[in-house]
Amino acid sequence: MSFAELGLSEKVQQAVAASGYTEPTPIQAQAIPHVLARRDVLGIAQTGTGKTAAFTLPMLTLLESGRARARMPRTLILEPTRELAAQVEENFDRYGANHKLSVALLIGGVSFGDQDAKITRGVDVLIATPGRLLDHFERGKLLLTGVELLVIDEADRMLDMGFIPDIERIVKLVPFTRQTLFFSATMPPEIQRLADAFLHNPVKVEVARAASTATTITQRLVATGSQDYEKRETLRELIRGATDLKNAIVFCNRKRDVAVLHRSLQKHGFNVAALHGDMDQRARMAALDGFRSGDTPLLVASDVAARGLDIPAVSHVFNYDVPHHAEDYVHRIGRTGRAGRTGYSFTLVRPGDEKSLAAIEKLIGQPIEWEGPSLAERPPSAGKTSARRGRGGSERSRGGKGSVRTTEEATVQDIEVREEKAPRRDRAPERAPQRDRDRGRSRRDQDTDEPVVGLGDHVPAFLLRPAPVKKPK
Ligand code: AMP
Repeated sequence: MSFAELGLSEKVQQAVAASGYTEPTPIQAQAIPHVLARRDVLGIAQTGTGKTAAFTLPMLTLLESGRARARMPRTLILEPTRELAAQVEENFDRYGANHKLSVALLIGGVSFGDQDAKITRGVDVLIATPGRLLDHFERGKLLLTGVELLVIDEADRMLDMGFIPDIERIVKLVPFTRQTLFFSATMPPEIQRLADAFLHNPVKVEVARAASTATTITQRLVATGSQDYEKRETLRELIRGATDLKNAIVFCNRKRDVAVLHRSLQKHGFNVAALHGDMDQRARMAALDGFRSGDTPLLVASDVAARGLDIPAVSHVFNYDVPHHAEDYVHRIGRTGRAGRTGYSFTLVRPGDEKSLAAIEKLIGQPIEWEGPSLAERPPSAGKTSARRGRGGSERSRGGKGSVRTTEEATVQDIEVREEKAPRRDRAPERAPQRDRDRGRSRRDQDTDEPVVGLGDHVPAFLLRPAPVKKPK
């Protein structure tokens, strides 16, 4: 199947060819002809499948006839996060290179003024996060009665983020006769209910989940102690000993932990960025740019912040926490092993995680292998991961490819550094979860504030490259 067979306009086909794409992906091949035929589409696909172009390309073709009117956007795309919205805008810039369309982005963290002026002039495509769109609407600057086509993207993520009431409100503001394209990676009952309510006689297009087909991902579980410092230590050990590590995303369940872990890894000399919902727009974009370009090969992220982002070619995923929702595991590991490349995912499991783990194994339909002893086999007193993994005879502890030293050495030196350095009063302590603070942590429970200089030589050099600091514009 070629793009020429899908019914896209000449201009769009030229832009696609200029992007270097020769063949439509399955979601594009299945969805585009229906979108062009003005049908409603229910697309079940996750990011990485080419789903963005599955709606942007036919939209560009459809928008070639007709023109925008003041304050009345012709099409509306709803995205759960600012980054996703920005990514869709980039798609229009790229594929719409031969068009003279006006595209506006309504997202938090960007000033109202410019966007207001654009909308007042009239836009063909409005890309928005739900809250910000309603803010504009309530200010009386925007009319949604001219919307011919509505895209609701990443609907399951909208549900997770509590945006469904906003979406329901917005849908009531656009004409009933509109065309609707609805995309979701999963179809829990609440999302099915919305799809039934918003779509009229839709064509259902479904593509396989990346994780269910990506056999190129080596998935492993790693038993760890229940203390946060033990988890951080296990993680450092995994990163340092990882085979073929080029870049990695470390996922945490909570944004608070993203910040704590980010600081901890930095203190230990890793070249790492963070991505979580509390960061401002510029910091999030800078973190993503650094990761995409390879300047910062490690990214600590929360599910919400990272969902749907187009981050190609990640060699490793580390689940610092077992995700509470099994679906998130599928999304997380889907970040690696793309397009036939090999990828690795390591999930830290501590006592108490058994239920979440069982749900994941049920969802993916297979047990995940342990790296070293399982949680049940791990001696309860084993506070240190080194002895455990040393005995477990993992590839890393035997000095496998990419392994730079034994994990025993690493941990012994980690402990030495930690215990040599008394915590300094003038440094702000790393913010720890409340329960640790309440418990009154011992000194050993804390990460040291200093980089682990004694280990510097052992960390792959590219992980230690300083991240360039971008000057604010
Ligand atoms: P998405 O699922 O929309 O996040 O897209 C994932 C990635 O696939 C993006 O980097 C797109 O640029 C890329 N992509 C989209 N369509 C194609 C195609 N037909 N062939 C190759 N790559 C594509």
